[in-house]
Amino acid sequence: MQIKSAEFLISNTDLDKCPKPDKPEYAFIGRSNVGKSSLINMLVSRHGLAKTSQTPGKTQLVNHFIINKEWYLVDLPGYGFAQVGKATRAGFARMIDAYLTTRANLLCTFVLIDGRIAPQKIDLDFITRLGEQGIPFVLVFTKTEKLKSGGLQNIQDRYKAALTEMGWDEFPQMFLTSATSRAGQKELLDFIEPLNKAFEIPQMGEKRPWQQ
Ligand code: GDP
Repeated sequence: MQIKSAEFLISNTDLDKCPKPDKPEYAFIGRSNVGKSSLINMLVSRHGLAKTSQTPGKTQLVNHFIINKEWYLVDLPGYGFAQVGKATRAGFARMIDAYLTTRANLLCTFVLIDGRIAPQKIDLDFITRLGEQGIPFVLVFTKTEKLKSGGLQNIQDRYKAALTEMGWDEFPQMFLTSATSRAGQKELLDFIEPLNKAFEIPQMGEKRPWQQ
């Protein structure tokens, strides 16, 4: 897929104000500082589209972008920052949950994980919640230019081992990316393209197959 246009549409905390669910949508989420803004900018080749290095906890909103006038990219608030209070954190978690479980056109959630560090409980907990709720997702390892080829295999194996220990017998698809080297851009866009083609506008009140 070639990126011809990428525009910011709306930031909001009110899910009713999200654009009409008439185009395929993909959400990006991960711990604060995981490299989410950098990855989004790299993916759509627009420097500064998603603001990088914001104060942790600042991205408090559901940010909608429209790409190629054809699909929505959603930048969700980072989870797990210690800098905001417990109540705010719980509020974010509720909003993210409500968004992920009700957004009818959401085709896949990209869970970003820092490829340089061992599996973290907070990421595994989030993945578990997605699995329990049947929300389609993939894992996107970031900052992987810092890893040697053995390390690239290792991080995937460690996640598989952690998921196996938690009782998973199937693993989510995994992508190795780097905003610095631009690794993974083609793979992610190649993943999105056929999903876009197969998208059908959900009817009013219709649930996606995984929400039945
Ligand atoms: P966000 O908080 O998840 O949106 O993360 P940012 O995109 O703002 O990046 C957080 C920090 O990680 C910044 O210092 C970036 O320069 C750095 N970073 C982001 N992507 C990469 C990458 O691919 N490789 C490396 N080495 N650092 C990165």
